[in-house]
Amino acid sequence: MKVASVLIPLPVQEAFDYEVGEGLDLARGDQVAVPLGPRLMRGIVAEVRETTGSNRRLKAVEALLEDPRLPERTVDFVEWAARWTLSPPGEMAATALKGLRAPRPRPERKLRRVGDRTPNRPTPGRTAVLEAIGERAMPGPELARAAGVSSAVVKGLVDEGVLEAFEVEALAAFDRPDPDHKPATLNADQAAAAEALAAATTVGGFKPFLLDGVTGSGKTEAYLEAVARTLKADPEAQVLILLPEIALTQALIERITKRFGAAPAEWHSGVAPPRRRMAWEAVVAGRCNIVVGARSALFLPFPSLKLIIVDEEHDGSFKQEEGLVYHGRDLAVARARIEGSTVVLASATPSLETLWNAHHGRYGWLKLATRHGASVLPEISLLDLRQSPPDPQTWLSQPLREAIGETLLAGEQTLLFLNRRGYAPVVLCRACGHRMTSPDTDSWLVEHRYTGRLVCHLTGFSMARPKLCPSCGAEDSLVSVGPGVERVEEEVRQLFPEARTAVFSSDTIPDPKAMRAMIQRMTDGEIDILVATQAAAKGHNFPGLTLVGVVDADLGLRGGDLRAAERTFQLLTQATGRAGRADKPGRALLQTWTPEHPVLMALAAGDRDAFVEAEMAEREAASLPPHGRLAALILSSEDANAVERIANDLATAIPNAERLEVYGPADAPLGLIRGRRRKRLLVRADRDVDLQGFLRSWLSRVKVPGSVRLTVDVDPYSF
Ligand code: ADP
Repeated sequence: MKVASVLIPLPVQEAFDYEVGEGLDLARGDQVAVPLGPRLMRGIVAEVRETTGSNRRLKAVEALLEDPRLPERTVDFVEWAARWTLSPPGEMAATALKGLRAPRPRPERKLRRVGDRTPNRPTPGRTAVLEAIGERAMPGPELARAAGVSSAVVKGLVDEGVLEAFEVEALAAFDRPDPDHKPATLNADQAAAAEALAAATTVGGFKPFLLDGVTGSGKTEAYLEAVARTLKADPEAQVLILLPEIALTQALIERITKRFGAAPAEWHSGVAPPRRRMAWEAVVAGRCNIVVGARSALFLPFPSLKLIIVDEEHDGSFKQEEGLVYHGRDLAVARARIEGSTVVLASATPSLETLWNAHHGRYGWLKLATRHGASVLPEISLLDLRQSPPDPQTWLSQPLREAIGETLLAGEQTLLFLNRRGYAPVVLCRACGHRMTSPDTDSWLVEHRYTGRLVCHLTGFSMARPKLCPSCGAEDSLVSVGPGVERVEEEVRQLFPEARTAVFSSDTIPDPKAMRAMIQRMTDGEIDILVATQAAAKGHNFPGLTLVGVVDADLGLRGGDLRAAERTFQLLTQATGRAGRADKPGRALLQTWTPEHPVLMALAAGDRDAFVEAEMAEREAASLPPHGRLAALILSSEDANAVERIANDLATAIPNAERLEVYGPADAPLGLIRGRRRKRLLVRADRDVDLQGFLRSWLSRVKVPGSVRLTVDVDPYSF
């Protein structure tokens, strides 16, 4: 008897076995319908095997679905990813089918000529139509526009049988990229990097690289050349480019379209479902060469993936923390290993993990030393707020105000960076000291002036700003404490009433369209002073921007978590790197109360190596990543006692292990979210310890009831 083990999207660690009926020819990667209780479920065949005379009564596979079979290596990858992250393999596999859950786009209607038939009554309009269409096929409205006639003229030709309409599957819509369409002339560093990458993809086999170059050094240009060469050597090759944020995809897609004369497929949660379906089908059929996407694009079923590029690889947004918990950068490297392909991690401020791998020769290290062309990095200075403190209830010091004034006079643009949404991060009562907090959640309410509401950034809860203090009832006693971007903009408007100002944050830019519009206004010089969170600090090029002011350079350093220093260094490098891209030199001013902080000193000196060396030494002393590994177990439930109990059960069931310690249980950093109590246990292990094996054996010893949710976070990004 033949048995298939099938991956079904359920929160369990195993595949399910089904009998394979006579005449059903199944293979790994096939999509099947299988019965589960009263329902039929879609599953992916992981394995088919012969068994002899088992007397267990297995249910039978109901049907082989007509949907495409997943490539073998895609199944290898999802199974590996599930084992690595301790996630249910069926749920991991389901992420590879996401594009199938959308309706197909409707087929497109196009017109073409019928043989060499000519119109009975040629008119200038009709002749123009026939000239415009030639031997091609075109949609009717486009044809009418090209010929400069009304749609009635085109319709007349169809009625007469000179043109005929036919339907094209929208699937054919991904044009082949042309590697020679508009190549750039690369400088020596770029050419060397592109050459090394192209050599790797042509030879094949797993080859990881770090592409390391300051902002504006031309990393994108270099890797696009590697894409071109890869496609030249193998027209069937597929390339995946991952970006940390959806907001960055549009600019890259435009660049790729210009470079290759064809648009790539786009893959992220913001893409309309029919278009996602189209991309999914084109990818699995090998009819799409370039995909630009967010981390979930890693699970697309590429049959011929030759090159993966992870741009801004250091970015924490690659970590998915809801649902399946995984790091997109790490899984990209794993996928490349499984596919036997090249992976490029690109950044101006690589993560310490990636630098560690490059230092130890595990990754090839390609360096772009200088900015492209005449453009130079901005001059970075620290403004010591102890010397020139801002006036009470204001946030911009005198030197920064002057710099903004000078920039305005020169007709140039300023970016004021503050990584805090809203108007004020805290609202408290002057009479009794009560702080406005989110209900059932460990979080303060953030005041937003645009909407006039107090908002919880964790849960989305919001309320009108009350007149009376909800604790002591005092009237008009609530005060806004500290600045967010809206408050800094208010100050800017008062100081420079004639300047054109705008706020750029996820609240003022709710969707990709608004984002594009704002970026366009900034690019076109229609904004003088932009007050922005990190939403604007990453990736964008604003040619007229010559001054970046960091309102609170100490902000990220106060957190005290493992990556606080690293993250702040990266973010401020990105933010200050926005200044002076084109022919105008830029400068960056960082307001700080702690100018002696090593992170800020390294930033001001432009000395990344100094920062990395110091930070690496600290991590080594504490055996923390990348010198050791971490994993977190988070328990959460509305039943606080159950969380307590399971946390203690886990604490008493820790298996013996060498070079590994468990800390906790303790309250998780966010101890209460929406009424769910959260506890955490943290595991630290030396690099060569089998951390996953330890976690598996540990978790097998404790039964977690349905009322408690257990999240396993291997290699946590933040905590
Ligand atoms: P990075 O990805 O390192 O930030 P980009 O590739 O975006 O850098 O390049 C920065 C700017 O310099 C872009 O405007 C890009 O078009 C331009 N540029 C980079 N390399 C070249 C080149 N070889 N020829 C012409 N322009 C280039």
